[in-house]
Amino acid sequence: MLYLQDVKKYYKKKKAVDGVSFGIQKGEIFGLIGANGAGKSTTISMITTMLKPDGGDILFQGQSIISNPKLIREHLGYVPQDIALYLSLSGRDNLVFWGNAYHVPKNKLDERIDEICDIIGFTKDTLSQKTASYSGGMKRRLNIGAALLHRPDFLVLDEPTVGIDMIARNQILEAIKRLNHMGTTILYCGHYMEEVERLCDSFCMLHEGREIVWGSKDKLLKDSGKTLETLYYELMGTNLYLQRKEN
Ligand code: ATP
Repeated sequence: MLYLQDVKKYYKKKKAVDGVSFGIQKGEIFGLIGANGAGKSTTISMITTMLKPDGGDILFQGQSIISNPKLIREHLGYVPQDIALYLSLSGRDNLVFWGNAYHVPKNKLDERIDEICDIIGFTKDTLSQKTASYSGGMKRRLNIGAALLHRPDFLVLDEPTVGIDMIARNQILEAIKRLNHMGTTILYCGHYMEEVERLCDSFCMLHEGREIVWGSKDKLLKDSGKTLETLYYELMGTNLYLQRKEN
């Protein structure tokens, strides 16, 4: 569905993304993982056509989106790391705002909002309350819902569970799985290995702007004989985790 071919992005002398290649298959949950500063958000910004690469190509369904960004935009839902909601509005009014922004026909909006409530686990009562009164986890779920109003078939999530507790995180992971079962291809970006282990069919690890491994999660773990967390620390060139375990 999506293929990145030797993609590069430089900020002056800083090589934020320095020749990254990986592919995402239709229907899968794909994890883009790496430490802070590895180049994940920059890579996502190029996939979502907010940034133009300085080198390489990005193919969506076989065609370059660099020369024609529209090819991916109508398929794409993007959930940013920062919450993109108006806190003074109710949850419902936020969804109406985003529905209008995505040009969802007015006569379809109620139906879409009902669908989204099911996916993110909101009741009508919750949705009628002010967003400012929501917990961090509820805001994160609504932030995901806002990206679904135009029924994208490719959803990009940038660190969707950052800063929330275990229960809220679980609700978000379940919502992501539900969406995937409904046919949405998902690009999950983050650095929680247990989430990748639980969610993803394939993954790519980035380190200092380069991909150090990508492929099927089951195959990579079987071939290495390691847990994802151990593999991650080993490949990142640090044995801090193993030292911690030994102590
Ligand atoms: P995090 O997990 O902290 O969000 P990340 O993996 O998403 O990190 P990026 O945000 O893509 O990493 O950043 C990759 C590198 O590029 C970092 O060294 C960062 O400081 C640098 N960088 C990112 N955006 C800019 C910018 N606008 N100008 C200059 N350098 C930047």
